[in-house]
Amino acid sequence: MLNLVEISARELGMLKLMADFFAEKPELTAKIESYTTAYYALVTTYSENFGIPQEEAWKVFEDLQKKINQAEYVHVTAPAPLKKTLPLPREEVNMLRVLIDYFSESPKMSPAGSFLTKRPENLAEIYHWFYGSNGNGNGEVSREILQTLIDKLQTTMSIKMETLAPVFITPNPYEAALKQLDIAAAKLNLEPCVHEILKRPMRAFIVNFPVIMDDGSTRVFTGYRVQYNDALGPTKGGLRYHPELTLDEVTALAAWMTWKTAVTGLPLGGGKGGIRCNPKEMSKGELERLTRGYARAMAKFIGPFTDVPAPDVYTTAEMMAWIMDEYSEIAGYPAFGVVTGKPISVGGSLGRNEATSRGLMYTVMEAAKHLGIELKGASVAVQGYGNVGYNAARLLHDMGCKIIAVSDSKGGVHNSNGLDPKKVFEHKDKTGSVVDYPDSTFITNAQLLELECDILVPAAMENQITEANAVKIKAKIVAEGANGPVRPEADDILYKNGVFDIPDILANSGGVIVSYFEQVQNQMNFYWTEKEVRERLQNTITKAFKDVLAMSLQHNVNMRDAAYMLAVKRVADAMLARKGKTIVPAENTIVEA
Ligand code: NAD
Repeated sequence: MLNLVEISARELGMLKLMADFFAEKPELTAKIESYTTAYYALVTTYSENFGIPQEEAWKVFEDLQKKINQAEYVHVTAPAPLKKTLPLPREEVNMLRVLIDYFSESPKMSPAGSFLTKRPENLAEIYHWFYGSNGNGNGEVSREILQTLIDKLQTTMSIKMETLAPVFITPNPYEAALKQLDIAAAKLNLEPCVHEILKRPMRAFIVNFPVIMDDGSTRVFTGYRVQYNDALGPTKGGLRYHPELTLDEVTALAAWMTWKTAVTGLPLGGGKGGIRCNPKEMSKGELERLTRGYARAMAKFIGPFTDVPAPDVYTTAEMMAWIMDEYSEIAGYPAFGVVTGKPISVGGSLGRNEATSRGLMYTVMEAAKHLGIELKGASVAVQGYGNVGYNAARLLHDMGCKIIAVSDSKGGVHNSNGLDPKKVFEHKDKTGSVVDYPDSTFITNAQLLELECDILVPAAMENQITEANAVKIKAKIVAEGANGPVRPEADDILYKNGVFDIPDILANSGGVIVSYFEQVQNQMNFYWTEKEVRERLQNTITKAFKDVLAMSLQHNVNMRDAAYMLAVKRVADAMLARKGKTIVPAENTIVEA
C-alpha cells in the first residue's frame, strides 16, 4: 500500500546541489573540477556549502537515495505564485534515479562508472543506455527530460514521494487505544477471550483505486475502512482525508468510535475510514472523482445496515452526498442511510451542525448539577473557535454563562467581564482570527488553559493538558470538546486536584448521537423537527452522563476510566450474549496467534 514520505530540508538541499552540477549556470558547484568522482564531489561540496560534517553528508545522501529508489510517485511543489504540488512524469522520475545513481559511491546505471563530468550529455547518455527506447531515450529527448527535471529541482519548495515501503508513525495511536482498553479490561476483570478479541479490529479493508487528475494523468489512491466491532449494531464512524493517514491510525479511530457509541448507549458499533491524499492540493473536481472512486471501491462493504460513514477531518456534507449518490446508483435505490452528515436537502438531520456542542452543553449542565455549581454567571474559557468551540461558547452564553476567554490557532482574547460569542465570531469571520477583538486583552493558548474559571472547554487539538500544565488547571469542570485534549498522564493529576473532567468520548458524543438520529430518520423516511432532535439528544446524552457518573462513583475512578469501563462492558456483554460459548473456551485459556 502507498505511504507518503516527505524529503527533509537537508535532503532537498542535496538534490538542489546535484541539479546545480548540471545546470547551465551552476552557482554552488562552479569550481569542483578538481574532484575525481561524482560522489566525493557531491559530499564535499555539500559539506562546505551547508557547513555539515562529511559523515553527516554521507548519511543525508544515503537516506535520500533510499527514498528515491523506493518512490512510486514523486511530487514537487512549484514556486510562488502557483505553489501547487505536481507529480513528476514517469520519465522524470527515472531521470531522478539516474541522477542519484550517478552520484552514488558505486553507481549501477552508468556503464562508464562515475568519473566526474559536468556535461549533461553524459547523464542523458546514461539515461538512454539504461532506459533505452522504453524510456523515450533518444539522446535529444533525454537531454530535454534532464533539463526539465533540473529546472524543477532548482525551483521546487518541497518534494513528497509515495512509496510502497511501510511507514511507522510514533507514537502509534493504535497502541494508545490498546492501552486504554487494557486499563478498562483490568478494572472490569474482563473475560480474557473477550479482551483478546477486542484488541483487534473485526475487519479492515484496503482499496486502491484510480482517479483521473485535472492534468490528464491517472493517480492511484489508497483508501481504508476499518469495522472494529459490531456487537452492538452496524458500525459507524467518520471518513478522513489526510496525506499521512495509516491503517493503524484508522484502526485506533475505529476503536474509539466503538467506545463512543457504546458509552452513549447507541445501538451501533465502531468504524472509521479514510483516504491517503492531500485535499488541500486537489481541485473540487479531483475531490469529487476521488470521493466517488472510494464509494465505488467500498460499496460492497458499507451500507445502511452494515457500516455507515460520516464526515471527519477534511471531509464535508457535500462529499457525503456524492458517496450516497454513488452508492445509490450501485444499490439501485435512493439509499440515503448509507452515510450521515449529509446536506438537509438529501436526508441530513436538522440540528446536526451544532450537535457536538449542544451535547457538550448538556453534559456541562449535568456536571454542574452534580458539583453544585450555578451555571448562571459561571465563567467559561474555550480553546478553539471552530464548529465545536464557537457553538459551545454560544450555547453556554445563551444559558447565562459568562464567556471570559476564547482562542484559535493565532492566540486568544480575554475579558473577565465577558465576551459576546456571536460578535467575536463575526470579528473572526472578518479578520481571520479572534485576536484583536475590541475590549479584550491578548492571551496565549497556554494562558487560556490556566485561567481562573468554572468551566474550561478545550475544543481545538489533542494533547493540550499534559503532565506539565495539569497542576495549573484551575477550572472546576473540563469538558473535552476536542478528541484527546488531555494526555493520559494528566488524568490522575486533574482527578487528584478535584477537577471534574468530562472525557471526549462522552462530552463530544453529541455529533455521533445526531448522526444516529439521521440514520433512523433515513430508514423511516420520516423527518423530525429540530425541537425533537434536541430533546432526544438531551435524553440520550444525559442518560449516558448519569451512567458514567454512577460507574465513576461506584468504582472510585475518574470519569474517563468510568466511561471506558462502561463502554467496554457494554460491548463485552453484547459479544457474550450473541456468541456465548462459541468464544469462551471451557478452560478460558487463550493462545496468542
Ligand atoms: P474546526 O476546524 O472547525 O475548528 C478548530 C479550531 O481550533 C479553529 O478555531 C482553529 O483555529 C483552532 N486551532 C487549531 N489549532 C489550534 C491550536 N494549536 N491552538 C488553539 N486553537 C487551535 O474543528 P471542529 O470541528 O470544531 O473540531 C475541533 C475538535 O473537536 C477536533 O479535535 C475534532 O476532532 C473534535 N470533534 C469535532 C466534532 C464535530 O462534530 N465537529 C465532533 C467530535 C469531536
